[in-house]
Amino acid sequence: MKQEYFTLADGHQMPKQGFGVYKITDQATLDEAIQAAFDAGYRLFDTAQMYGNEAMLGNALAKLPAKREELFITTKISEANQGYDTTIASFKESLKQLQLDYVDLLLLHWPIHETFFDSWRALEDLKAAGLVKSIGTSNYGMIHLQYLATQAREMPVVNQLERHPWFNQAAMLEFDRQHDIVTQAWAPLGRGRMMDEPVLTELASKHQKSPAQIILRWQYQSGISFIPKSAHAERIVENAAIYDFELSPAEMTMIDELNRNTRISQEPELVY
Ligand code: NAD
Repeated sequence: MKQEYFTLADGHQMPKQGFGVYKITDQATLDEAIQAAFDAGYRLFDTAQMYGNEAMLGNALAKLPAKREELFITTKISEANQGYDTTIASFKESLKQLQLDYVDLLLLHWPIHETFFDSWRALEDLKAAGLVKSIGTSNYGMIHLQYLATQAREMPVVNQLERHPWFNQAAMLEFDRQHDIVTQAWAPLGRGRMMDEPVLTELASKHQKSPAQIILRWQYQSGISFIPKSAHAERIVENAAIYDFELSPAEMTMIDELNRNTRISQEPELVY
């Protein structure tokens, strides 16, 4: 994979395509997946406190023949750890588990009303202290970002959202773009649930690609970042091999039109 980068609003570079490790909680499986992903060209690795695998990811990363600055590591403050002091303390524990001096991107995993501004202030302070390069949010809708803007010293540079052909988030993508926030798709493959969609299987046979590759190419051409997960080396390689073909504007529209506005996750509580 030829790795391409976004320049974030804070000036840092972030790979467009990353690798998610949700639900990989066995050291040997994670070691193999991270090595396969690295060999396939992935440099961005996405974990979270909630996944329970930061220490395992730290072990797997330490085995890679990579300089720290070549890698881009994301973690997220869990719902339970939000609040100023708990965000700071739990993040320091995350760093220890990951065996790192800093992370490239720290996200608030979910908008929590009670601790909304305190948690964000903790991220701003961790960035100012040099322990985090970039700060962002996850599962924040327009209302959350507008509310955050009323008190934030700096705004998120990345917003990680559920996004796949059945939930294409067209309005959020446009909102993020207008506010200089890079959208990053989680569940970019819709957890594998829509591989039998006729539009996807037809485009797959037309382009001699798999439905998964068609979906990921659609994510790429939508101008966003995306972080597919797989624990299998052959699929990890397959998911990286999407840079040797192109979807036409009409084909992009066909996939856009698969939208059903159905989420995998629950809807974030509205904060106002
Ligand atoms: P995904 O859309 O990446 O789907 C992964 C699943 O798709 C795999 O388990 C497998 O079943 C299937 N799959 C993978 N490659 C395939 C292929 N080539 N062909 C057919 N099927 C294939 O879903 P995800 O893991 O939920 O999301 C990706 C990453 O996003 C996670 O690992 C995690 O890092 C992150 N994430 C973030 C949040 C959040 O709230 N911020 C929530 C969920 C996930």
